[in-house]
Amino acid sequence: MDSDEFRKYGHEIVEWIARYYETVENMPVKARTAPGEVKGALPAIPPTGSESFDLFLKDFDEIIMPGITHWQSPSFFAYFPANSSPPSVLAEMLTAALGAQCMIWETSPAATELEERMMEWLRGMTGLPSSFEGVIQDSASSATLAALITARERATQFMSNSRGLSEAGRLRVYASTQAHSSVEKGAGVAGFGRENLVRIPVNSDFSMDPGALKQAIEEDISAGYVPCCVVATMGTTGVTAVDPLRPVGEICREKNIWLHVDGALGGTALLLPEMRWMADGMEYVDSIVFNPHKWMFTNFDCSAYFVRDAAGLIRTFEILPEYLRTRTRGLVNDYRDWGIPLGRRFRALKLWAVIRTYGVERLQSMIREHIRLAKMLAQLIESERNFILMAPVHLNTVCFRYLPEGISADEADGLNERINHALNDTGKIYLTHTRVDGRYVMRMVTAQTNVEEKHVLRAWAMIKEYASALSSKDGAVDVD
Ligand SMILES: *Cc1c(COP(=O)(O)O)cnc(C)c1O
Repeated sequence: MDSDEFRKYGHEIVEWIARYYETVENMPVKARTAPGEVKGALPAIPPTGSESFDLFLKDFDEIIMPGITHWQSPSFFAYFPANSSPPSVLAEMLTAALGAQCMIWETSPAATELEERMMEWLRGMTGLPSSFEGVIQDSASSATLAALITARERATQFMSNSRGLSEAGRLRVYASTQAHSSVEKGAGVAGFGRENLVRIPVNSDFSMDPGALKQAIEEDISAGYVPCCVVATMGTTGVTAVDPLRPVGEICREKNIWLHVDGALGGTALLLPEMRWMADGMEYVDSIVFNPHKWMFTNFDCSAYFVRDAAGLIRTFEILPEYLRTRTRGLVNDYRDWGIPLGRRFRALKLWAVIRTYGVERLQSMIREHIRLAKMLAQLIESERNFILMAPVHLNTVCFRYLPEGISADEADGLNERINHALNDTGKIYLTHTRVDGRYVMRMVTAQTNVEEKHVLRAWAMIKEYASALSSKDGAVDVD
């Protein structure tokens, strides 16, 4: 592709993106593709000769787009958001154009120094302690794995990286029953063994029970285990419960245990002064991750990982082959030493574009509005006779269940599942489910970049309509 063609198609694609953002609201939110359908439409072998880029664009529209679930639709209420935004997309185009590897300072000094500055900005925006230093990771899963490995190294006097784990003792990790699957995966990958992740019971609001944590740790110590790391969650994936950092942190301090906070979604809410109660006890925290790629309008991937002791992190991951020796070593940050991969994308650029284009106040007002919408929905649910709110709403996630009179809990599970699928099959909204106390519940997250009150109200009207239609005798739904 020569420069003229690049220019022509570049303009076309920017036009395509602008049109996409203008019309995504009207597209079926959840892809209606059957398994194998997209693959079947793709040739089994690559072209031997050159094809025109027009053909690529045509196939993108005709084959790929129907198989896309629209995470940027304001009626996307599923999972947690993976928000994008126009400034983020534009900056990502520049990142792709530069194609710079940002593994060490010398491979692009501006990338490293912008990343340092952006982490300082985020630290200030979220009110984290000024002693924390930050690095952008690809995902919260990677950051939590880095935390677990660093905790393991610290607990073994930085020996397990070199000698392996055979002399490490029986190391244990603790997280609540509600913690994300990445903690269990990380415990396995980091060599603790998944069975050495101890699941701590939760209180009635689904937050970790510090008394139960203390008891589990003490029992482990008596049994000869070595407590190594506690992962507290700031906004659990199921119901966005917030673990109490202060009592958990006091236990960690007393027993010299690493405290990592998984704030993948919830950490973004620390932009709001009124949500800083979640950070009470932050002085006990060793590391925290949150994802601007979820709730801060910065397209995937961009996870902000902060550590109290950057030297310990670097000592864990540093490795210095001859070909990476530089004259600036020790004078600058070489972020390859701050995590697992060597190669690193230039992710700070999109963060810079997002923070500058929106400004802190606008970011705050958007996040605040998302929380308001969730609380509004929770109130609507509570005021409806046959619906039950299944968990407190602190952030942007609402878990609820339809329970008409005269049906059993098991029947209600099936009914709620049918309602959820029927709603998603309309293509008008997309929500997912979780289980609360073993029961199937619908789960709606009001945090898409462009979500407004009208989208939430429309979804709620549809939910009520489908719920009553599907629970009536014939189960037929006749709604447009
Ligand atoms: C989404 C989520 C994760 C995983 O985030 P990735 O960036 O996709 O790895 C981890 N923890 C919690 C609490 C989450 O909600």
